Amino acid sequence: DRLKESKVFMRALFDYVPLEDKATPCQEAGLPFKKGDILQVVSHDDQTWWQAKRVGDSNLRAGLIPSKHFQERYGRMFALVPCWCRVQDCDCEGYFNGQYIAGLRRSFRLSRKDRQGSAGEGSDPGDSDFLTYEEVTRYQQRPNERPRLVVLIGSLGARINELKQRVIAENPHRYAVAVPHTTRPKKPHEKEGVEYHFVTKQQFDTDVINNKFIEHGEYKENQYGTSIEAIRSVQAKSKMCIVDVQPEALRRLRTTEFKPYVIFVKPRIPESRRRRSAATSPGGGDHGRTTDEDLQEMRQSALQIEQQYGHVVDRVLIKEDSASACVELRGILERLEREAFWVPLCWVR
Ligand code: 5GP
Repeated sequence: DRLKESKVFMRALFDYVPLEDKATPCQEAGLPFKKGDILQVVSHDDQTWWQAKRVGDSNLRAGLIPSKHFQERYGRMFALVPCWCRVQDCDCEGYFNGQYIAGLRRSFRLSRKDRQGSAGEGSDPGDSDFLTYEEVTRYQQRPNERPRLVVLIGSLGARINELKQRVIAENPHRYAVAVPHTTRPKKPHEKEGVEYHFVTKQQFDTDVINNKFIEHGEYKENQYGTSIEAIRSVQAKSKMCIVDVQPEALRRLRTTEFKPYVIFVKPRIPESRRRRSAATSPGGGDHGRTTDEDLQEMRQSALQIEQQYGHVVDRVLIKEDSASACVELRGILERLEREAFWVPLCWVR
């Protein structure tokens, strides 16, 4: 019924290029879209081909997109039946059951690790192995509701921790970090619960076993980690909690409780090192030593995040330099408090 009223909105979790799709009944009638686009499904009369519009498009005409069912079914078939090129997970085209169809139909197949990790946790877009569409709705935080969690993920050279600290320092009454746990000794000027929660190694290990951390790691033989409780305690003070994490932590955070807004910070990477800029030095500090190999590594790192996590990213922030990225991030955070954003439908039901 909701479809008839065209109130069904889907976030595309894959890129679709109709002109490359040999399965479509009409390539010209296809609606091209990119991973992350919001599509309004205006008709699902046909089981295989839906009609949809891209939200924000001035073009009023709807175009054809593969239905969720079709996209999943053919994705799965191709996982089971390798295409003639015999490259696993290839993206080329081939025949199946005598019918010519696009290879993996460009949907991204989750790795085994990701599939296991997402089981039972948070919102899992699509119950199949293939990312197709995720039903979404507009959501605006109400004044009495806990502020949404903001998650920064970054590719090589993005320096998201620095960015986070800067934005919080400018406005500590509104934004805060989740205080991490550590096993290292407290320094004289530090206070328990301010810089860190200081715990014994034994306590830390128990917390790890009990799954209390969204992420943890070792530095100079001491353990560090950020707990779920630390995020909750920031939110309990009605402050917006900003965390910078490895993207794998999204699995723990993408839940109805946190409704995370995910920002992917990606440094602008110059074509070659002759036109390098300070913001793109991966190690930081000595910008004069950025080599073409460094730039290639940065490109690779950004591409990997896009491919693996692009479908859960709400916003890409291209970082030119620290100052402008900070201004942009502040703008995003302010809008997040007053405007409605798309979230998975299951988060608000
Ligand atoms: P310090 O002991 O000087 O306060 O922190 C040293 C390092 O510990 C930081 O530079 C950072 O690499 C690491 N660290 C601090 N907090 C965390 C955390 O919450 N998680 C992880 N994985 N590492 C942290």
